[in-house]
Amino acid sequence: MAIQLIDLPFAQDALEPIISKETIQYHYGKHHQAYVNNTNALIKDTELDNEILLIDIIKNSDGMLFNNAAQAFNHEFYWMCLTPDPLPPSAKFLELITRDFGSFESFKDEFLSKAATLFGSGWVWLELDIHEKLIITQRANADTPIVHHHTPLLTMDVWEHAYYIDYRNDRKKYLESLWDLIDWKFVASNVIEYYNDLTQPCKDNSELCTYIEQMQDLNEVRT
Ligand code: MN
Repeated sequence: MAIQLIDLPFAQDALEPIISKETIQYHYGKHHQAYVNNTNALIKDTELDNEILLIDIIKNSDGMLFNNAAQAFNHEFYWMCLTPDPLPPSAKFLELITRDFGSFESFKDEFLSKAATLFGSGWVWLELDIHEKLIITQRANADTPIVHHHTPLLTMDVWEHAYYIDYRNDRKKYLESLWDLIDWKFVASNVIEYYNDLTQPCKDNSELCTYIEQMQDLNEVRT
């Protein structure tokens, strides 16, 4: 079972002038494609060849395979975070941001500053940690929140290949420009997905959790 390169959620020139078509042609068409190809070559004729989910390959790998599979995942996630038609964040999402960062401005400052100062190649992430708190992390190279049992919500790629064609060495300008393309609807949807994931143990007294607990009790009686 080969891993596929996802289709971009926008046309290759749709993010211009912030991200040029040429950058997309290299970043998606060459770099991302290479991570997918390398992953497929490395799992061929191994037991991971039958894994359908990239996430399961990442969780069961290390070394070269981990680096390539995690990069394939990180790039998929990065593209999904971007849109040529961004809407402002929803009120509900802003509540969460304010709860954990004090204000949207402080969140933005911390995110962009951590992205600008990450040394070398890597990714900056907004993640939901195991205590359901929103945190911003600097992750080097191919590191990815999913191996830390965190839920990824938003990422920015700070490898030089992400911005060198359009911004040369000006990473800060790339980041500040990219901020205007963030798909807040996608970011918020990752929080919703987390709370709707019934495999997560319930931790509060909400109606949904009570219902899930009842269903679990019922299943135990049956088996
Ligand atoms: Mn990249």
